[in-house]
Amino acid sequence: MVYQSFLIKYAEIGTKGKNRYLFEDALIRQIKNALRRVDGRFSISKESGRIYVQAESDYDYDEVIEALQRVFGIAWICPMLQIEDKDFDHIRQVVTEYIKEAYPDRHFTFKVDSRRADKTYPIHSEEMNRQLGEAILDACPETSVDVHKPQVLLKVEVRKVVNIYSLMIPGPGGMPVGTNGKAMLLLSGGIDSPVAGYMIAKRGVKIDAVYFHAPPYTSDRAKQKVVDLAKLVARYSGPIPLAIVNFTDIQLYIYEQCPHEELTIIMRRYMMRIAEELAKKMDSLALITGESIGQVASQTVQSLAATNEVCTMPVFRPLIGFDKQEIIDISEKIGTFETSIQPYEDCCTIFVAKHPVIKPNLNMIRKSELNLQEKIDEMVKEAIDSAELVWCE
Ligand code: ATP
Ligand code: MG
Repeated sequence: MVYQSFLIKYAEIGTKGKNRYLFEDALIRQIKNALRRVDGRFSISKESGRIYVQAESDYDYDEVIEALQRVFGIAWICPMLQIEDKDFDHIRQVVTEYIKEAYPDRHFTFKVDSRRADKTYPIHSEEMNRQLGEAILDACPETSVDVHKPQVLLKVEVRKVVNIYSLMIPGPGGMPVGTNGKAMLLLSGGIDSPVAGYMIAKRGVKIDAVYFHAPPYTSDRAKQKVVDLAKLVARYSGPIPLAIVNFTDIQLYIYEQCPHEELTIIMRRYMMRIAEELAKKMDSLALITGESIGQVASQTVQSLAATNEVCTMPVFRPLIGFDKQEIIDISEKIGTFETSIQPYEDCCTIFVAKHPVIKPNLNMIRKSELNLQEKIDEMVKEAIDSAELVWCE
């Protein structure tokens, strides 16, 4: 069956009152972005509180559905048949053909819900419901009508053209990207941070990212893996500018000057400081990490407090209360898991102490950082100035 168009239903953005058009326009922009990756030509239009995607050439149905299922803000995708000939016998014929094709297993209950937006149309909606219901029962005797809880709710809308649809394919929900400012994601090659980026983008936030690279301790392959992950997240969030910061000198300097069991915490404090500087430069208003309470030594509440202390921007940690398995489930769903588990070293794992502190004492950490006074500001500046920017889409 060839659906000519898709009715896009949105959820939360419907509640935004006077600003609603801004949300709708952002949603249309994101739909256009998503469909740009798909073969075929499409036009997108807004008509009395609805968004339509119209196919203007041949296209691959599965590909289009998959692309639309990555657009935040979409609650439901309804593939529609559209007919211009409003002659009722013709409608009846198309409806029965549609039902036979869309539901090859005929054992279902249904209800017809007709609407006449075009009030000049000679047949009233009640009458259309009755006649179309009869036609379906004639064509498919195994079916039956259930007006209260039908398995198939068939919509027939007589507007400029006649829309016929019954399938409702779930979208990802959330809000269109671009409606809620921008934040800087600390993206590593692990499982968690791509999921964290996905979750914040889902609330309409644009994403920039930063990766701390430590060559030669971390390879080009590890860096490529992060670029690949950014591209996977970008399928949902739109293009991600990824800043790659060379962190080697800073890491080695901390390694030389500070107690090894504090290394991870101090290193993470510098990551946050640098991320915040970059965020300011790139006009982001918040940071995002993939941290979750208790997952590793650097994510105990004490460690999180010590890391957080150096930031003035809000730090979003959308996975904070999630179990690892819950995070893995999302990463599988969004398609980042396979890339995340590729075995390339992470800059943190190389310098990890055998017994890292799990309850860092802030005074001691601050005191240890004094050992870095001589060179660290210059090194941080150098790391920021020499960051490489990679456009990931
Ligand atoms: P992930 O699975 O995201 O790597 P993790 O469980 O390995 O997380 P950590 O290594 O402690 O946890 O890192 C915590 C968070 O710090 C990460 O989720 C990420 O946001 C950030 N982070 C860690 N390493 C890097 C890095 N090399 N570059 C950028 N951000 C990083
Ligand atoms: Mg990690």
